[in-house]
Amino acid sequence: MQTLEPLIVILGTGGTIAGTARSSCDGVGYTAAQLRVDDLLAAVPALAGRRLEAHQVAQLDSKDMDIATWQRLAIAVDEQLARPEVAGVVVTHGTDTLEETAYFLHRVLAPNKPVVLTAAMRPATALVPDGPQNLFDAVQVAAKPGAAGVVVAFAGRVHDATQVRKAHSYRVDAFESADGALVARVEEGAVRLLGRWPAGEALGLARIAAPAGSWPRVDIVMNHAGADGRIVRALLAAGVDGIVAAGTGNGTLGVDLEHALREAESRGVRIVRSTRCDAGPVMDLPGLLPSAGVLSPVKTRIELILALLAR
Ligand code: ASP
Repeated sequence: MQTLEPLIVILGTGGTIAGTARSSCDGVGYTAAQLRVDDLLAAVPALAGRRLEAHQVAQLDSKDMDIATWQRLAIAVDEQLARPEVAGVVVTHGTDTLEETAYFLHRVLAPNKPVVLTAAMRPATALVPDGPQNLFDAVQVAAKPGAAGVVVAFAGRVHDATQVRKAHSYRVDAFESADGALVARVEEGAVRLLGRWPAGEALGLARIAAPAGSWPRVDIVMNHAGADGRIVRALLAAGVDGIVAAGTGNGTLGVDLEHALREAESRGVRIVRSTRCDAGPVMDLPGLLPSAGVLSPVKTRIELILALLAR
């Protein structure tokens, strides 16, 4: 009896990987989210004949990612993973908020099958597009026996959802893992494991079921030279449930900004300190506002929203 090769499902959400420009030399003035996920697959002849299924979940520039799309995507990924014949899921996405979607899916689903997000820095019409290679690599990762959890496959590297961040605005290898901790590399289609597949405890879809419009409001405020409490006071006036303070260094805050944040905290707003540094933890010290550990400000924001949704 012939054993079927593993089925991989590709979910499309848009991004530059699905973007088009008028000229093949235009790598910046393109429009994201123009091609369908089937078109992306058709551009990778090496995937022809593979056991794949493709579905379009959204079609947007990921700078415009929103809660409703996250909800739809999490449900779609969960449904696909629940099918016994599905070995893994690939999500095509934009690079701008890729790390946020990856972290969101990781916290909500913590899947024991691989969910591999991928993207591109160049539109599909570029002279040398990077999307087809990234999509090919992502499928290899999703089909790798033993692979599990939410990862990002990009430019030959496989990043953990908790570590990954977009670190460059233009370079084709735009993503880095904090402290360099890669999960794997993809070389000529072979996945070479370097670390561990991400694992965690799933919060579950029930946590994110509330209508998008009723989700807690969490904003990010940065410390910088001359920062004061003005933005925090404006947020308080507008209504806010949580504030992530992207502090300097070890999450340090200017005196006026900290004063305003403590005022907000005393009025019931949840405050968490992260750092505007590219990597490294924010250490908790007695008497300081709560720390986000190693999470970047945007991931801290997701963590805080998910925590507030449990109230
Ligand atoms: N603005 C685009 C997006 O995030 C950038 C990209 O895909 O690289 O969808």
